[in-house]
Amino acid sequence: VRLLSAESLSPSVRSMTFETVDGRPVGQQPGQWVNLFVDVPAPEAPASRVELRRSYSIASEPEPGRASHLEIAVTLVDGGPVSALLHSLPLGSTVGMDGPWGVFTLERGDAAMPMVFVGTGTGVTPLRAMLRAELAARPTNGPPIVLLFGCRTPEDLLYRGEMEALARSSPRFTYVPTLSRAADSWPGKRGHVQQHLPGILAGLGQSHVFVCGLSKMVQDVRRLLKEDLGFDRKQIHTERYD
Ligand SMILES: Cc1cc2nc3c(=O)[nH]c(=O)nc-3n(C[C@H](O)[C@H](O)[C@H](O)COP(=O)(O)OP(=O)(O)OC[C@H]3O[C@@H](n4cnc5c(N)ncnc54)[C@H](O)[C@@H]3O)c2cc1C
Repeated sequence: VRLLSAESLSPSVRSMTFETVDGRPVGQQPGQWVNLFVDVPAPEAPASRVELRRSYSIASEPEPGRASHLEIAVTLVDGGPVSALLHSLPLGSTVGMDGPWGVFTLERGDAAMPMVFVGTGTGVTPLRAMLRAELAARPTNGPPIVLLFGCRTPEDLLYRGEMEALARSSPRFTYVPTLSRAADSWPGKRGHVQQHLPGILAGLGQSHVFVCGLSKMVQDVRRLLKEDLGFDRKQIHTERYD
């Protein structure tokens, strides 16, 4: 795939749009991920290079006229070789890709039940793809969808403008950002996603919950749903980044 465009979504997250070099459709189901293969300097012999593989959720839904495009969002990880390389990758560069892969998709839910998307950091990207696809297919008539998104500060609110606009335009969708390091002036929710999930679910009844991010959060949310809230495991869908 070739890097077509890129922009900063936050101080530590780069959004990158690739296109398949041969023009073939990516063919993703919203929520799936791809592997990228990049060459980085070998740790013990920096003059030579090794190929590393890392997975990235697809942030974009398949769109007519853009079937060969795919958007991802990469967090710059301290000391992480692949995220560092992707953050400085020049436009026009090519990297290897395989996929799309994964079963973290809307099909796992129930089209008649509310959906609660829980994400932290770039864990929001597959949820964004699912949300956009679902609202494009059923903008007004369908069960409620809530996105509970956790990050540290307002600068880390990935896709904030887009999510606020979707919430204004779709009566189905509610956007609930929560900040763990909010200034006094922040008018919204504070703390971690785990604190707000029970209240959201209490207002929705039977729902499917899709959770994506780092393992600790995903495990905490799964435990909360199963042990404290008595959720059936078939209504819990998770994707872990580490
Ligand atoms: C299915 C799947 C989907 C993924 N999708 C994304 C994605 O959409 N965006 C993305 O940025 N990463 C995503 N990741 C993580 C990604 O594959 C890499 O692990 C990440 O880019 C770090 O690679 P690295 O070589 O820079 O650092 P490494 O040396 O490989 O990683 C160092 C450590 O960084 C931590 N880490 C990994 N990912 C993140 C993250 N996103 N935020 C904070 N800390 C992290 C982990 O604890 C990891 O052990 C995904 C992983 C999986 C398994």
